[in-house]
Amino acid sequence: MITITFPDGSKRKYEPGVTGLEIARSLSNSLAREVLSATVNGEVRDLTRPITEDATVKLNKWEDPDGKHAFWHSSAHLMAEAIESLYPGTKFGIGPAIDNGFYYDVDPGDDVALTDADLPGIEKKMKELAAQKEVFEREEVSKAKAMDYFGKKGDEYKTEMIGELEDGTISFYHSGDFTDLCRGPHLPDTSHIKAIKLLNVAGAYWRGDEKRKQLTRIYGVTFPKQKMLEEHLEMLEQARQRDHRKLGKELELFTFSPRVGAGLPLWLPKGAQLRERLENFLKKVQREHGYEQVITPHIGQKELWVTSGHYAKYGKDSFQPIHTPQEGEEFLLKPMNCPHHCEIYRSKPHSYRDLPIRMAEFGTVYRYEQSGELHGLTRVRGFTQDDAHIFCRPDQLKEEFTKVIDIILYIFKTLDFKEFTTQVSLRDPEDKEKYIGSDENWEKAERAILEAVEEKGMEATVVYGEAAFYGPKLDFMVKDALGRQWQLGTIQVDYNLPGRFELEYIGADNQKHEPVMIHRAPFGSMERFVAVLIEHTAGKFPLWLTPDQAVILPISEKYQDYAEKVSKFLKNYDIRTLIDERSEKIGKKIRDNELKRIPYLLIVGEKEQESETVSVRRQGEGDQGSMKLEEFAAFLQTEVDHQLKKIETNV
Ligand SMILES: [Zn+2]
Ligand SMILES: [Zn+2]
Repeated sequence: MITITFPDGSKRKYEPGVTGLEIARSLSNSLAREVLSATVNGEVRDLTRPITEDATVKLNKWEDPDGKHAFWHSSAHLMAEAIESLYPGTKFGIGPAIDNGFYYDVDPGDDVALTDADLPGIEKKMKELAAQKEVFEREEVSKAKAMDYFGKKGDEYKTEMIGELEDGTISFYHSGDFTDLCRGPHLPDTSHIKAIKLLNVAGAYWRGDEKRKQLTRIYGVTFPKQKMLEEHLEMLEQARQRDHRKLGKELELFTFSPRVGAGLPLWLPKGAQLRERLENFLKKVQREHGYEQVITPHIGQKELWVTSGHYAKYGKDSFQPIHTPQEGEEFLLKPMNCPHHCEIYRSKPHSYRDLPIRMAEFGTVYRYEQSGELHGLTRVRGFTQDDAHIFCRPDQLKEEFTKVIDIILYIFKTLDFKEFTTQVSLRDPEDKEKYIGSDENWEKAERAILEAVEEKGMEATVVYGEAAFYGPKLDFMVKDALGRQWQLGTIQVDYNLPGRFELEYIGADNQKHEPVMIHRAPFGSMERFVAVLIEHTAGKFPLWLTPDQAVILPISEKYQDYAEKVSKFLKNYDIRTLIDERSEKIGKKIRDNELKRIPYLLIVGEKEQESETVSVRRQGEGDQGSMKLEEFAAFLQTEVDHQLKKIETNV
């Protein structure tokens, strides 16, 4: 008998040669129906592959990425089988599972063009084949046999790949009439695939090389239940509507220009206003928490980052040094603000009584991200961190850390970010040598973070070995409209830079001591934060934050003067308004301005002019009746006050 160990540590004995599927069946019938692949001693395998020795086994269901992966990879084979039967002679490139489904790169021949119009037919064929419960069969083959099979078939893409493989490592998978060169793993059979949607067709160069042939890439997604597919399609549509790149354009918040450079956002007036309001909000909160603003230049001598250690680590892959007419003089665009702040700390001597010093700056930094990585405002090459550095005594670390958590939680609450997750990154206890700073300090800092997190009642994931080499950290993550996770806020303890920059303070014992440094940025960067905020609110920003609070819509040109009077009146109350002066019909004006997500639409015509009122519509909610101008101003101010009060009582 062999011993199988499960993830929870429990063990069971089985006959040698038992399969993952048989193990699942021995545990429960419902598990056997749901399980999709098995991880055997760390390797993901087909459920039908025999296990011959003692092993640890994890049975992967839909919820497990390795389960989904097998499901979608099998779906790619199913799609290829359908294509082969509908378009005989098609040649196949690669067909992997991806984050949200799968694709296959195919070459149907020069006289066939596959387009979106062909997808329903392929989908139909896939459903037919799936229902036949075709078994996925693995076959280990020699290189010669593999070459022979695909050579005879005339598939030069597969033979090219086989040519690069080592004999003895090659396997085929058969399902129905289709055979693929493949490592697997796959589902036991096609009957699991119940819901199918082919999404779109794109061009993709073979091996990503634009000198080679362009193949047709077909994307699809499949699910074990129809309802899951429907929910997924609904999510995709929502995500498309909320995409910050789309909304950023429609709401005129930001733009990019290839002449300025990729990844360098240009903030338009409305976006700049929004950002300024967020910055002022954060400045106010920070002032109340004892922070002081500083301002530093965008560049600094290269030596600064040689001293900090960042140049050795990232210098090669970053923006290269700026040269001056002075021989040998080199400056760097700053990739982070820390060294500048260290130099401010050094500008005068400090006593233990001066600490903590909390130094804040909206500091713009530049990092050379790969062009393929750039994405709207979430990944850019120039961005502004809502940065601050806290210099404190070791005995103040926990309190300071807790206060930063307070600020971040407060900001998230104010902006209604409920779905965030947190992660504490600690040292790898097995490999303490690779971290800088004393054992004692690390233990203190790690304990301080864990205690602070617990006191705040946060459910943080604790990950060992993920700390930076210079100190442990706490990160705040949120998801965007597509479910991709982005890091926003971060709090990091640093035992490295104070030493490198020779920072010190005179202690109560009259001796020199080294302060501890905390790096922190609640938003992370203004760019990423605004992107997430756009997707989170679908562009409907809270009234206190939104660029335009009300738009005035005169019914015709005759009421233009009255519209201006209304605008002037409201401006006296600090209400941000604009007038839609176009000579369009009022219905169209309403529709257009609803799309701009301006919270209030004020319609003015003869009746309103005579009674000195406005007809009020709330975006997305329709008619709210007519109000006197003072009444509307007070009404709006109450709403803003309410939001700001909510904010203040949170502090
Ligand atoms: Zn495959
Ligand atoms: Zn820093």
